[in-house]
Amino acid sequence: MSDLHRRVEETGAILARIARDYSPAVFASSLAAEDMVLLDLILKAELPIGIFSLETGRLHAETLDMLDRVRATYGIDIALFKPQPEAVQAYVAKNGLNAFYDSVEMRKECCRIRKVEPLGRALAGKRAWITGQRRAQSTTRAELAVQEMDAAHGMQKFNPLADWSEQDVWEYLRTQHVPYNALHERGYPSIGCEPCTRAVQPGEDVRAGRWWWENPESKECGLHVVDGKLVRIQSVAARAATS
Ligand code: SF4
Repeated sequence: MSDLHRRVEETGAILARIARDYSPAVFASSLAAEDMVLLDLILKAELPIGIFSLETGRLHAETLDMLDRVRATYGIDIALFKPQPEAVQAYVAKNGLNAFYDSVEMRKECCRIRKVEPLGRALAGKRAWITGQRRAQSTTRAELAVQEMDAAHGMQKFNPLADWSEQDVWEYLRTQHVPYNALHERGYPSIGCEPCTRAVQPGEDVRAGRWWWENPESKECGLHVVDGKLVRIQSVAARAATS
């Protein structure tokens, strides 16, 4: 059995266990490469796991296009959770549309309004949620567990691709003919909101293009909390430079 075949079997077993033991469970899909692997596995196995995305209002057109491509390929509509319009309007009226460039605090407040609050609504009443995080994405994810307690949301959190490599992800997508975001072929290994994501240069690690103007120590969006602390998204390159 190839490494990828073994990983697919193990991941399928984890997803089946979540569906069986932690219902109702949901999968938070950003529509990026890793998340398309999980979406494909969940839908092909017809597992009773809800799938949603956070539609922040600032996503790339290519990311929004994935919603149509998922519908065309799998015949499903991904549930979208959007920010509260009043909160967005108040932030923009007070601070400006792109105030997240001004300070870490402004950026975190934008993430709170557009991502964290909608995530809370998406997870309400659930027993577990699933993400596409991998250990190899950054040093802060080096200890990422397949299953962990998300105390902030009071439920189990699963990262079934924790030990997948980037090569595994792409081998799966290509051999299974899974649609993927066109930005991945234009230098975007990690994709967030359009104004907060840029292409990376060869040799940079996969998350270097996220909030590129900030010190790596401040990089987090508030979605992933471990032991009551926000997970800092520190790149492999940044860690090497400071160690
Ligand atoms: S990633 Fe940028 S645009 Fe998106 S919610 Fe966070 S600060 Fe706002």
